[in-house]
Amino acid sequence: MANSNHQLPFRFVPHHRAPEHPGDDPILFAFRGRELLVNEKLHLPTVAEIDAHGLEAVRTQYLGRLDGRHCYSAELPNEANPQSGYRFANLHMLHATLDDMHRALAGRAVQIVEWDRTHQFCGACAEPTVLSEIDRSRSCPKCKIPMYPRLAPAMIVAVERDDQILLARGANFPPGIKSVLAGFVEPGESAEDAVKREVFEETKILVDDVQYFASQAWPFPNSLMLGYRAKYQGGEIEVDGEEILEADWYAAKTMPSFFPGKVSIAQWLIHDFLKRNGVDVPD
Ligand SMILES: [Zn+2]
Repeated sequence: MANSNHQLPFRFVPHHRAPEHPGDDPILFAFRGRELLVNEKLHLPTVAEIDAHGLEAVRTQYLGRLDGRHCYSAELPNEANPQSGYRFANLHMLHATLDDMHRALAGRAVQIVEWDRTHQFCGACAEPTVLSEIDRSRSCPKCKIPMYPRLAPAMIVAVERDDQILLARGANFPPGIKSVLAGFVEPGESAEDAVKREVFEETKILVDDVQYFASQAWPFPNSLMLGYRAKYQGGEIEVDGEEILEADWYAAKTMPSFFPGKVSIAQWLIHDFLKRNGVDVPD
């Protein structure tokens, strides 16, 4: 196939402008709200299967190409009902059934659908916006204000003191589960400063030696998680009892329950700590 994108070392190549023809075998992520249309095995339906639903999309967006296949997202009306054998599923439910690439694309798709839905009008003058020809933005023809999909950077950090890790129980966690600390980066703040501030706000612990670990797109609803490791510098644990219910230091051999699986950066940070402290973690 004459396709220059195949020269690139990436399976997915994003683009904002739809091709004239969608090709033989496009991939479509169809959402009702933030829920994706899937079959009963929680796999993506084909475009033909989605077409058979006879649902009229409110809006569609072009995402780019995966392994040469054109990918689209679609916003279905709130009253859309799946046919028998299909359902709408929250992206959290699809961790076990979508591979890493399709899960990431579904996360990309839901954010682009949401951005398109909520930026049809200018926030300053209420004029209808127009889609940009040159990049992924909409803009107001009067104010010329460009509006891009919104990303909220957040930091997540494994704080370590010798051979122990600081884990906390958030108020919205399932019973018994503890995890590493996380929070949003504020305007004007570096991610490293956000690590120090959030850890102190949530536990009254001071940290230093903040080292970058990895990042992960986290589409719940639009975060970019920036993962760090940091070292204990001082202080005694004290929690507010509202946002954070409890927190403590744990050695690798005496860990409390934490979120199972390996799909989130919180798990990667905990697994990394366990491995460095002599506890095997299955890959
Ligand atoms: Zn305007």
